[in-house]
Amino acid sequence: MASGGTVGGRSRIRPAFGVWRGLIVASSVILALLLLLLPLSVLAPPVHAASAIVVTATRDENHYPTDARFFLEAHSDSDITKVSFNYQFVGSDTSAYMYPQFTPSREVKIEHRWDTRLKYAVPGSEMEYYWQLEDASGNVLKTQPTRFTFEDTRFKWQSVTSGLITLQWYEGGEGFGHQLLDASVNAAGQLSQSAGVEITSPIKIMLYATQRDMMGALEQGAQEWTGGRSFSDMGIVVIAAGSDPGGRAFGLRAVPHELSHVIVHRATDNPYSSLPPWLDEGLAMYAEGTQEASYGNALNRAVTENRLISLRSLSSSFPADPNQARLSYAESYSVVKFIIDQYGRDGMGKLLKVFAQGNTPDRALQQSIGTNLAGLEAQWRASLGAAPLPTARPGATNVGATPPVASNKVPAPASVATPAPSGTNGTTPAAAPSGSLPWAAPLAALVLVVIAGLGGGMLLRRRRGPNA
Ligand SMILES: [Zn+2]
Repeated sequence: MASGGTVGGRSRIRPAFGVWRGLIVASSVILALLLLLLPLSVLAPPVHAASAIVVTATRDENHYPTDARFFLEAHSDSDITKVSFNYQFVGSDTSAYMYPQFTPSREVKIEHRWDTRLKYAVPGSEMEYYWQLEDASGNVLKTQPTRFTFEDTRFKWQSVTSGLITLQWYEGGEGFGHQLLDASVNAAGQLSQSAGVEITSPIKIMLYATQRDMMGALEQGAQEWTGGRSFSDMGIVVIAAGSDPGGRAFGLRAVPHELSHVIVHRATDNPYSSLPPWLDEGLAMYAEGTQEASYGNALNRAVTENRLISLRSLSSSFPADPNQARLSYAESYSVVKFIIDQYGRDGMGKLLKVFAQGNTPDRALQQSIGTNLAGLEAQWRASLGAAPLPTARPGATNVGATPPVASNKVPAPASVATPAPSGTNGTTPAAAPSGSLPWAAPLAALVLVVIAGLGGGMLLRRRRGPNA
């Protein structure tokens, strides 16, 4: 029974196994048929799934301020025919590319030299770059983005950071760096408190011990009297201020001044309009804190002699005459102070916000403080005890006391220059007498600032193009 049962058992199993095998065979046939019905593309190996291009090495070398070198080694199954070096500066919204020269081949070794004299790079500016390669078979390969900083390696920089502001210097002790960082933080606080503009992205302030050192990091053709520059897009301020008393005094004014330009430009940047110089420079001077007496004196004399420059005129380039240039700064400061005193942080903050939307000065003033430029001018002149302008009624066209120097609107400069404290031969500025303008450059220098700093800034911005 037992064996028969076993035999019988076996015999019962056999038919069942046959059914399973049949089912498997049938399923396989159905599966095969289904597979045949699938679109060919699903089954076909993707043509570009794995690029035949292989990058074997990439690296970079910094030789600032002369050049930077970028190296690439790659090979492919067919000739590599196209290679581009793609980059974008941090803070800039435009990217750019270059085509390094090379001979198409299956194996390429490329050295791309970025001549920072020909294609200027701001010291401390940071960019992200990648390579893109194409071969004759149509394969394309992009390398991973890499960060590169155009660090000025001529000096051993010290660095302190507070919030979004970083200050770098290489001459002078820690106290010097901290003192100037404090001045920067105070200026930023002052701007926030009086104009409602905040720092929203990092700003780097680089202090060169001498003007000669700084000139080595500025673009070719930079004016010899330059004492400081701001590059709003990149959030970089470059200033020549040593730790000696004169340099320190200059730095304590120049750092807040240039920082203000960066913060205000960033807060109001738009493609349609730019801040009038009276507002831009006025805010920068306001950020410095108390002004030296010579500005107040210039303003008072102009009021007494009834020769204030009209705000309409100060909405374009400042006058070329040195005395008029000084008066322009004095008036700008005075008007900005008047707006803040009269309309508070809300008024100034709103004014900048409306400007940021691309409005004209008249409309921005109307929407923020309820009067146009002529109306503001009338109020401000009255506050100074100055005679009213003949046509300075609110709503009237202001012909101004002085004919405008230029009728074209001055675009917000991408970089703003500040004259050096004193001397133009690369020496550290001498100690400024107390109460005097710390960077009291020759008056001619002040004129050039206005022309080349504002106008030149405009040209620079255009010229820098893809590099901006
Ligand atoms: Zn300025």
